[in-house]
Amino acid sequence: MSRGKFVIVRGPQLLSYSFPGSHPMNKERLIKFFEVLDRNIDELRDKVRFIEPVLASREEIALFHYEEYIDYVEKKCRLGYGYLDYGDTPAYPGCYEAASYTVGSTLSVLKMVLSGETCSGFNPMGGLHHARRDRAGGFCIFNDAGVAIEYALSRGNCRSVAYVDIDAHHGDGVYYEFEDDPRVIFLDIHQDGRTLYPGTGHEYERGRGNAIGKKLNIPLPPGSGDEAFKGAFDKGLEFLLSQDFDIILFQCGADCIIDDPITRLMYTPNSHYYAAKRLKDVAEEKCRGRIVAMGGGGYDPLNVANAWLNVIKALVT
Ligand SMILES: [Zn+2]
Repeated sequence: MSRGKFVIVRGPQLLSYSFPGSHPMNKERLIKFFEVLDRNIDELRDKVRFIEPVLASREEIALFHYEEYIDYVEKKCRLGYGYLDYGDTPAYPGCYEAASYTVGSTLSVLKMVLSGETCSGFNPMGGLHHARRDRAGGFCIFNDAGVAIEYALSRGNCRSVAYVDIDAHHGDGVYYEFEDDPRVIFLDIHQDGRTLYPGTGHEYERGRGNAIGKKLNIPLPPGSGDEAFKGAFDKGLEFLLSQDFDIILFQCGADCIIDDPITRLMYTPNSHYYAAKRLKDVAEEKCRGRIVAMGGGGYDPLNVANAWLNVIKALVT
């Protein structure tokens, strides 16, 4: 079967998702990533294609977020100062549009995958997994992963979606908003919530109602390295293989790598290669290879660059 090249979203619009001052979520992460990607482009050139960032429509954002919250973000963006939440996620001029580009770009990759134009792709600015339907949280204004799940289920002919998250933080905005939805298969490996924001993602959180058993949270203690991650990921894959789904959304946050300034996991970027490679095999077996990858967190720019480069290398080959 012939397949389109792996797509990567690239363009200055993505860099506009950058909080002011010394905030750790700033454009330096993506600048470093594209610099490292360019240095390695020779081995990837024939396998990847760059696409422009896309602005999501309000209607698309509202597939996940409440209208009142979208209004609130617009208003705070016009004001251009203060916080969207209780102190993690600042408002700044242009933040509404920046967050809309993040959503639109993830949707753009998703639409290409759903249409069969390609089987996988990556939005490095995506994976803003802490935003809830009605509020911002943890540097996340709009939850592009949440919007993508709603889109895939309502318009993409997907009966079920697998969401896999290896960011150091628990993907609470995805977990709780789909906790009782059996169509969302959820796997999240993260630093134990007793030691890190947002404090959730305990092993006993396996979904609610009809969705009990459709979610798996695997917390790891601070200091866990590649071996601990591999053990957890393999356990996660067993769970994934026991489920059925039509596409994988992969949040490949890089804040779980050693020396990240805000977390205490100690993986190397090899973990990202391992996860992406194994996930690709699962996708081939379960859903015709369909994977939409999203960057997620990571606050040491070189770690971010190396981790995401490994994800791309694993997914294109
Ligand atoms: Zn994170």
